[in-house]
Amino acid sequence: MTTNESEAQSFHWLVDMLESVEVGLVVLDLEFRVQAWNSFMENHSGITSSKIRNRVLFELFPDIPQAWLTRKVDAVALLDTRAFTSWEQRPYLFQFRNTRPITGTEDYMYQNLTISPLSGSTGQVEKVCLMVYDVTDIATGKRALERANEQLAKLSMTDRLTGLLNRGTWENLVDAEFERYRRYSQATSLVMFDIDFFKKVNDSHGHLAGDEVIKHTAATAKSNLRQSDSIGRYGGEEFGVVLPETDAEGARIICERIRESIENSLVQTAIAPISYTVSIGIAQLNDTAKSYMQWMQQADDALYAAKEGGRNCVVVFE
Ligand code: GH3
Ligand code: MG
Ligand code: MG
Repeated sequence: MTTNESEAQSFHWLVDMLESVEVGLVVLDLEFRVQAWNSFMENHSGITSSKIRNRVLFELFPDIPQAWLTRKVDAVALLDTRAFTSWEQRPYLFQFRNTRPITGTEDYMYQNLTISPLSGSTGQVEKVCLMVYDVTDIATGKRALERANEQLAKLSMTDRLTGLLNRGTWENLVDAEFERYRRYSQATSLVMFDIDFFKKVNDSHGHLAGDEVIKHTAATAKSNLRQSDSIGRYGGEEFGVVLPETDAEGARIICERIRESIENSLVQTAIAPISYTVSIGIAQLNDTAKSYMQWMQQADDALYAAKEGGRNCVVVFE
């Protein structure tokens, strides 16, 4: 074999290898004309190498961010150094369909991209090579994990039965509202309410029906509140609401509305329709409360008075 023949032979192997590799390879000259396009690129784009050769990349792929890629390639050529972009910075350069049959939750193939300078015989950078890595599996996994984490964070803040804030999260909000009042002294009210004779509901209709009543209470209260009001499930059948920018009289109006809509509703449970009532206590924040816990105690005292006063009523702490 002559030197030329053996060189041609190894070139042949090289081309074979580049063809069969599971990475997209694209060689561009500095005018973005395609000089090489391997079978990975052919298979995913549906454009053959012979068709795209010497064509300007942007003409065949108008979706490619031209200004961005030009900036990248210019830097690679100028500095004679490699550049890398991960799917997290830019999900893909070439909009290829995601071909995963099972994990096909994402529409497009996620790609990592490397751009390498290719020097000619003079040592000047004449071309660049784009390497396109299919990282759909990694991206899908990572995104699923992120979504799961978000849900987990949400779950640990909310109560499972009602979807309201749980006690810990809600109490933190009461604390924050208390601190805000110390700085800005805006009228703020706290509400505590509790279902009347709830033990009877459980005793006569069962715990599951009781749960339906709790859910109904949460939904009814929530539908009577503003976006800025924070409602939490404080205990089994006890709830708390922070009403920012609301004085006791404003709070009383809102609470009367909640009390009335509960009194007038019938919960359709699997066992029987259930009617019930709630008692409500209100405390507008003032300087007599030295901590958020004292403020809560005041609302609870008002709730106690409402129970003592015959239930199904609203009492404001004096
Ligand atoms: P009152 O009018 O004085 O409030 O009387 P009550 O019977 O409602 O008394 P209380 O508020 O002390 O009742 C709490 C009951 O709520 C006791 C408990 O069995 C029940 N309970 C607590 N959590 C849950 C829950 O998650 N589901 C159900 N079904 N019942 C619960
Ligand atoms: Mg009760
Ligand atoms: Mg109770």
